[in-house]
Amino acid sequence: MTTLLRFAPSPTGALHLGGLRTALYNYLYAKKTSGKWILRIEDTDRTRAVPGAVEGIQDALGWAGLEYDYGPGKPGPHGPYFQSERLDLYHSYANKLLESGHAYRCFCSADKLAATREKLARTGSNSTYDKTCLHLTEDEVARKVRAGEKSIVRLNDGRLPMRPPGHDLVFKNLKDAHASLPTDPVLLKSDSYPTYHLASVVDDHEMGITHVVRGEEWLPSLPLHLDLYACLNLPTPQFAHLPILLNPDGTKMSKRKGDVHVLDYKNRGWEPSSVLNWLALAGWGVQDASSSSSGKQAPNSTTLMTMDEMIRNFDFSVLTHRRSVLDPVKLEYINKHHLMRLMTSPEGLRTLAERAQPYVKAAYPESPYTSLPYLEKVVSALQGRIVKLSDIPTLGPFFFSEPYYSSPEAQKMRQSFSSENYAVVIDSLVSRLRSAEVQWEASALSQLLHDENAKTSLKQKEYMTILRHALTGMKV
Ligand code: GLU
Repeated sequence: MTTLLRFAPSPTGALHLGGLRTALYNYLYAKKTSGKWILRIEDTDRTRAVPGAVEGIQDALGWAGLEYDYGPGKPGPHGPYFQSERLDLYHSYANKLLESGHAYRCFCSADKLAATREKLARTGSNSTYDKTCLHLTEDEVARKVRAGEKSIVRLNDGRLPMRPPGHDLVFKNLKDAHASLPTDPVLLKSDSYPTYHLASVVDDHEMGITHVVRGEEWLPSLPLHLDLYACLNLPTPQFAHLPILLNPDGTKMSKRKGDVHVLDYKNRGWEPSSVLNWLALAGWGVQDASSSSSGKQAPNSTTLMTMDEMIRNFDFSVLTHRRSVLDPVKLEYINKHHLMRLMTSPEGLRTLAERAQPYVKAAYPESPYTSLPYLEKVVSALQGRIVKLSDIPTLGPFFFSEPYYSSPEAQKMRQSFSSENYAVVIDSLVSRLRSAEVQWEASALSQLLHDENAKTSLKQKEYMTILRHALTGMKV
């Protein structure tokens, strides 16, 4: 059986890190099993749709290099890939459920429903609806429909078949959680759009999805989804719910606490490969006895991995159900090392120079020193200090413009040595460097500096500080 997965965002805003991790795990498993994955746009909540959100999601996935096999702009056998273009399908499934008595039409107004909910809550009941409309006769229903009364379709939870308890690839055996579901959950809304629950079950079945990989926030809905599969007599896919991501202080990630939008990471100059590496490890848990006996290695949370390594090592059995902290300090470490890895090959170095160029040009629009061969040398010289490419202009301004001697930092440095000593160091060095036999190569220059230093009475620290001031105007 070929595996087929889907990433199914709702176009309600920008793609978050949590969404990118879900997309990544879908991608990794599809690649690992030589399967395919779909991008499905779940746009059935018309009140929450945000214009441009789909393009934003595509842009973020494209930046990360997670290319989907089918979806918007990529026709395939399971399309259309926008749920708003599949309404007939949901209606036909709702009709099947109405005909078999597993669902019924409810004509209660929003006000009446709110009042009922309140009344039930006051009496300490767990129910959220009193099932008034379940007791309408067929004739009454037909009359109301003919009269054009607005209705919704509800699942009749008193008619559910027996189901085995749910199983999840990450959360393992699940307890029965029906008690937390609303009474007779809504399947079709009054605008005749389906709810998420009906649409996702229908689409996962119709598209032939083998593995549903999604965020933990959907775990409470799983019993309802399993009920729908059972009422419709459909085989169930496998489910893998991914643990919620937390900030280092243990709170839920939110925009207020820092960057959560994927495109913020793009704009700030992070490497897509390291953002993926960082996200992959959030949720990639500690090895348990069963996974170690099958020989699967769980990486620790800063293990550097390329895409190929992630694909090779990924499996649902290595994931934890524990909430995972996404620590920005780890991203710095990972990003720095991804950059260092790229620097080891001429092609990698050229790519880095190309990607650094826009940051340098933006910071130093007048500089003549922004050619790619020059930037390759700059990147190598700053190796081990660059956390992200966008740091280059601030880490090494002296590569692009004259030192800025009137900065507070440069002035403070200047006060720590006398003009006499300054002149001794610079004059002697300049004349030595002008002589014909100087080899312009790091180890030879280092030796030359030590020799020149030894000819003076200055300590190495002072000698080098003077030199650093003259060349860069900066302490580091
Ligand atoms: N549309 C849901 C969301 O954006 C996805 C749920 C799913 O993957 O089933 O959260």
